[in-house]
Amino acid sequence: MLIIGSHVGFNKNTQLVGSLEEAISYGANTFMFYTGAPQNTARSPIEDGLTLEAMTKMKEINFDYSKVIVHAPYIINLANPDKEKLQFSIRFLKEEIHRCEQLGIKYLVLHPGSHVGEGVETGINTIIKALNMVLQGMDTNVMILLETMAGKGTEVGKTLEEIKEIIYNSEFKDNLGVCLDTCHLNDAGYDISKFDDYLKEFDKEIGIDKIKCVHVNDSKNELGAHKDRHENIGFGTIGFDNLINVIYNSKLENVPKILETPYVDKEYAPYKHEIDMIKNKKFNNNLLEEIKSDKIK
Ligand code: FE
Ligand code: FE
Ligand code: ZN
Repeated sequence: MLIIGSHVGFNKNTQLVGSLEEAISYGANTFMFYTGAPQNTARSPIEDGLTLEAMTKMKEINFDYSKVIVHAPYIINLANPDKEKLQFSIRFLKEEIHRCEQLGIKYLVLHPGSHVGEGVETGINTIIKALNMVLQGMDTNVMILLETMAGKGTEVGKTLEEIKEIIYNSEFKDNLGVCLDTCHLNDAGYDISKFDDYLKEFDKEIGIDKIKCVHVNDSKNELGAHKDRHENIGFGTIGFDNLINVIYNSKLENVPKILETPYVDKEYAPYKHEIDMIKNKKFNNNLLEEIKSDKIK
């Protein structure tokens, strides 16, 4: 069965209850959220009452919570050469893992980091050590999913080899997995029209069972652009058919697919329409117009 959703909000008054309602309104059967604003690390405490309320609702409607995803804020940088900033990232990521545990979440997506000019190898080594420090003594079931990156600026994790090196050298391999992002793969230079070849290579190098989430996004930029600008499904350089092949790939059947496509005119949420179109497996050229006239915010 197709497991599909999008990123949704998580605000301090409704928390998981609000996130679930938003996901349901899109016709989704899973979702991803940030435990606060994606771009900062201000976080309010998790209210167990709200979590319980959401859990009860999910049981009633048979909504599978086991693959719901949390995304860590972008400003965590485990490759940061600045020692103080690195310590802050490590501390914050530990707290984020605790929040996931409190919420009953198993999968936490993380951008591996940016080396800020120190070079890829130094960056990778810093990430490996930082992840060890984060997971040391935590004894957690939460799995950190390293996201494949576009290679914008000094981002680490733009190639399969870089991701492999981090996991392979970690003391906590069981706590590490991977989140593929189709826009990032395209921008990093991996041709999504040859996705089966990529998966074969991934399986050989890392093991396909490490893939626990796929971010499905089209791209505004051409193959290998190292840009990272997401586009609505079928309206970018990857194209509808190539994304459908990823979404319905039999080897990734049990892996949740999460849309992180842009709001239309920065205002209207596209997810209900995009999920519909994906379920129909037929591209709708008029989709963006329909989203605008539907005015879902
Ligand atoms: Fe991400
Ligand atoms: Fe992503
Ligand atoms: Zn991105």
